[in-house]
Amino acid sequence: MTDIPTITRAAVLVEIGKPLEIMELTLPTLKPGQVLIEMAYAGVCHSQLHEIRGRRGPDAFLPHTLGHEGAGTVLACGEGVSKVCLGDRVVLSWIKGEGVDVPGTTYESAIGTVNSGAISTFMTVTVTCENRVVPILEDKLPMREAALLGCAVPTGAGVVINTADVQAGSSVAVFGVGGIGLSAVLASAMRGATTIIAIDIVDEKLEAASRAGATHTINAATEDAVERIKEITEGSGVDTAVEAAGLPQTMEAAFVSVAYGGGLCVLAGNVAFGETINLDPFDLIKGRKIVGSWGGETVPDRDLPRYAEMFLSGKLPFDQLVSHEWTLENINTAFDELEARQVSRALIRMKDKNGI
Ligand SMILES: [Zn+2]
Repeated sequence: MTDIPTITRAAVLVEIGKPLEIMELTLPTLKPGQVLIEMAYAGVCHSQLHEIRGRRGPDAFLPHTLGHEGAGTVLACGEGVSKVCLGDRVVLSWIKGEGVDVPGTTYESAIGTVNSGAISTFMTVTVTCENRVVPILEDKLPMREAALLGCAVPTGAGVVINTADVQAGSSVAVFGVGGIGLSAVLASAMRGATTIIAIDIVDEKLEAASRAGATHTINAATEDAVERIKEITEGSGVDTAVEAAGLPQTMEAAFVSVAYGGGLCVLAGNVAFGETINLDPFDLIKGRKIVGSWGGETVPDRDLPRYAEMFLSGKLPFDQLVSHEWTLENINTAFDELEARQVSRALIRMKDKNGI
């Protein structure tokens, strides 16, 4: 086993609205319940884009590290950690699982103290805590795919499997087919939904949705999505709508696209801080339902191994989510492309830097 590193390279949010700065941080001594992990891959998602661009309200923790999805290898464990061992390959997820919770940590750097929440993945070596890691029991699961189990798969597939419990033969509309939306399309196909409608404004993403199992695609830049869904469902609306674009207008469109008398709209995307949506209460009275989702109601220790098994058996081919790979040095480009809505899921590959 190699010596435990004392330094990590991280993407740090120093100032809202500015690019992340790549810098060296000194690793702290592990607190009880913490785990030191050599990162292999980290996923880039809209939550961090909102943080970077200042769309999550005031940020009291600057400067700070970020990232809440990834996969890596355990280098060391703090006192009291029993869930993972040295050398274990693990998924890092923002969704709390079993184990010790340690709310945060700090790193020292040339610019002073840098804060971190319970999980940060945009760094070559990270400190997280026991309840944000799940061991990868399947030896055959590559790190690249394992990283997607941190957010995109549990949220998107979880919405379909846990939150909405999509049934065979039912109809599903997925608004926004980035990482979470595409994951919802894959899970809907796995569940045997017979009408799966993907809505986006980028043709390449709609093509990816078709490959993932969408039976219909709608480019909302040129077509009225609500009207098209009405046509496709012969006026009834869909049984389930999943909103994964994170925009008020798509949330409103998703809600009015579900059937009266029990159609369910699930909000999986995050709007910017302070944004609101408008609903007609009469739609609720007539039986349209709407709920939010917390990570697809995924229970990490129960569900992540299941999702991994579904991938390895070919039922949930979520390797299709990855449209771009970047190095840590290019992470700002990944966010620019995410903002331009060009990507499904972008991964940051750390292995070039630390030889995983
Ligand atoms: Zn996320």
